[in-house]
Amino acid sequence: MAQKRFLMISAHPDDGDIRSGGTAIKMAAAGHLVKFVSVCNGDCGHFDMTHEALAARRYGEAQAAKEVAGLVEYQVLKYHDCEAQATLELRKELIRIIRRFQPDVVISHRLCDYHADHRNVAQAVLDSAYLVMVPMFCDDTPCPPKNPVFAYNYDTFKDPHPIRADAVVPIDDVIEQKMKMLSCHTSQFFEWLAYERGVGKMDADKMTWEEKHAWLMKNWGQRSINSANAGREQLIKVFGEAGKTITHAEIYEYSPYGAKVTPEEFQALFTC
Ligand SMILES: [Zn+2]
Repeated sequence: MAQKRFLMISAHPDDGDIRSGGTAIKMAAAGHLVKFVSVCNGDCGHFDMTHEALAARRYGEAQAAKEVAGLVEYQVLKYHDCEAQATLELRKELIRIIRRFQPDVVISHRLCDYHADHRNVAQAVLDSAYLVMVPMFCDDTPCPPKNPVFAYNYDTFKDPHPIRADAVVPIDDVIEQKMKMLSCHTSQFFEWLAYERGVGKMDADKMTWEEKHAWLMKNWGQRSINSANAGREQLIKVFGEAGKTITHAEIYEYSPYGAKVTPEEFQALFTC
């Protein structure tokens, strides 16, 4: 089986983990290469830390998640949280990253999203989708042999349309490892996102793994259950009867702006 390369470009250090962590774990375990990029450094995702200390802490958390998932790299760019914009500078930076890594698939947010950083990173990624193959643009970094396929990972937004499950990745077999990956981001899942949900700051150091696991599954496990249900038709199409009983899955929508592939080829990219 040919080795595939997956590049997940997200706004924040933990977005790729939530949306595509299971896919990353499965692909890496199957011998494929998976790289995460976070455009922002995470320096606003808390309530009682300095920006600098938080960015440093979140970089460390991303590196721990990289180890759990078996990523080749978890790169964090320099942009401040809540300030990401689809600038020419970011477009060039992403194009150089894509050209150097030579992914088969680039995965990012959709343009419809609650967070300005997610929307702007989605725009910057789409802005690179064609230009990555224009050799005279960013001509210090050669074009890859082929244009990657571009895909969007799961979100819950319905306008302009709910995300299509053009490809599905069942993750029941790696859901525990995905929770371990999420648990690396202590500042987020046990502090900021707990605070944001009105629970207050949890002390992860005093929690057992069972307690952490229960909290993560209760609050983020549902996400991959919902995405499995959103992708049920495709799960059954690909896996037959077994597709009916898959509980957790990550789903992907095909973007028309990169390489053109058939629906079967798109699903095949996500089948390890
Ligand atoms: Zn985010």
